[in-house]
Amino acid sequence: MLNIVLFGPPGAGKGTQSEKLIDKYNLKHISTGDLFRWHTKNDTELGKKVKEIMNSGNLVSDDITIAMLKEEVEKYPEASGFLFDGFPRTVAQAESLDKLMNSLDSAIHGVIELQVTEEEVRTRIAKRKAIDNRPDDEEEKLNKRISEYFDKTVHVLPFYKDQQRLETVNGIGDIDSISQEVFKIVDSL
Ligand code: AMP
Repeated sequence: MLNIVLFGPPGAGKGTQSEKLIDKYNLKHISTGDLFRWHTKNDTELGKKVKEIMNSGNLVSDDITIAMLKEEVEKYPEASGFLFDGFPRTVAQAESLDKLMNSLDSAIHGVIELQVTEEEVRTRIAKRKAIDNRPDDEEEKLNKRISEYFDKTVHVLPFYKDQQRLETVNGIGDIDSISQEVFKIVDSL
């Protein structure tokens, strides 16, 4: 198995790079953001529970998020590997992910951070706003999500860095060049 975490703020290009990675390495893509959006859209019990918190741009509790992720991973016992996107966002989530991978006799082999500064993310989003003309509540939510990343989620990085599992790629530049960098890292894992 090959298991990778893709890390980075909203607007870093995680979605684009995820697609390339899952194709090239035949990985099962697990995005907790997409899973939560599916649940809210389909009005499931879980969706009802997390709707408000998601709408505010805050993080869902670890208990709920970890349980959902575990259930999803267990749906794919035949997977040749996973690409985790948007998870973990707290150290507690990172520790649970290690335990979960251990229970599958596997591990998280590498964590790839798409490094984009807060300033660059805000510039990208302001440009996007000028084009899309998003409503203000969307804007507010996005601002909150960016703050959540730079205030809270980044604290997961030292957890992996201390264990020599963190690789950082400059997320600013041409999409294909960034992919080449990412592939090089994955090939070396
Ligand atoms: P994303 O698309 O990854 O930015 O996720 C959208 C929203 O889902 C976030 O703003 C959170 O409310 C929630 N969410 C997604 N992943 C997590 C996670 N790992 N921990 C807590 N909340 C999450």
